[in-house]
Amino acid sequence: AKAEGRNTFRFFEPGMAAAFIARNQLETDLQAALRQEAFSLRYQPIMTLASGRICGFEALLRWDHPTRGPVAPSEFIPLAEETGLIVPLGDWALRRACLEAAAWPKDMRVAVNVSAVQFQRSSLEGSVAEALRASGLAANRLELEITESVLMQNAVAVVSSLMRLRATGVRIALDDFGTGYSSLSYLRRFPFNKIKIDRSFIVEIEDPEVAAIVRAIVGLGARSGAAITAEGVETERQLDRVRQEGCTEVQGYFFSRPLTADQARLFIAAATAA
Ligand code: C2E
Ligand code: CA
Ligand code: CA
Ligand code: CA
Repeated sequence: AKAEGRNTFRFFEPGMAAAFIARNQLETDLQAALRQEAFSLRYQPIMTLASGRICGFEALLRWDHPTRGPVAPSEFIPLAEETGLIVPLGDWALRRACLEAAAWPKDMRVAVNVSAVQFQRSSLEGSVAEALRASGLAANRLELEITESVLMQNAVAVVSSLMRLRATGVRIALDDFGTGYSSLSYLRRFPFNKIKIDRSFIVEIEDPEVAAIVRAIVGLGARSGAAITAEGVETERQLDRVRQEGCTEVQGYFFSRPLTADQARLFIAAATAA
């Protein structure tokens, strides 16, 4: 027992300490990056299947770290959420995406990812109104992508906030559909304009059971008038399958990787000239 007592700080192992320091450093760097505008956005095209045209782009954050190089969103977004930095970072992404989209053809939208923390810790409605005002972008050209984690906490307050946003014309999409614990129940809580079927289903679309799930989601969406986007379409075969199952939109490497703002403008010019 005595020997154990001396080992009380066993949890503070060298490896963990290193991880802790690295994480702290990353957090400090994240704060600096925000001040220095070391973040950028990429834009990935989304296609309407019926017309074969681009209906818009999803804005995706990128961080080019001064020494580590590009840091993946899967690494820095959770950290930004834990520290609350996602609030100013999310506001920045919103403003930037709206400014960029204002220069695109009027039938193209921009989709911006919104974290649950932005609902809890800030006036998202105020940020959205400000981003639209500053850019001159019409509200119906902005789409907010939320995951079910947004609706998990304080659902009543969030739903009323989403309702007010929708009433202004802003569209609301349910992202990563099918990956959570109770996805279906969230469809009843809010009238989403769009459901985005997670890439994990598209990868396995050859599996008849997975195809049946996709078909069921399409049915649910059709009933409420929601658009259904297949995420992460990488092959022509997957494209054919999601079309067969009734998805209305597609997004993925098969069409394009996320592009810089300049590349996105060229992509639009090439697509609209054809
Ligand atoms: P997400 O919202 O589900 O975004 C789609 C992710 O799938 C993006 O990864 C995109 O680059 C990737 N992707 C698109 N097509 C394909 C494909 O055909 N194959 C494969 N393998 N991947 C594809 P990314 O850019 O690394 O972003 C990862 C996640 O980080 C996003 O997932 C989103 O949850 C989060 N994120 C990115 N930007 C923002 C942001 O501005 N705000 C917030 N709150 N989260 C963001
Ligand atoms: Ca998304
Ligand atoms: Ca997604
Ligand atoms: Ca995701």
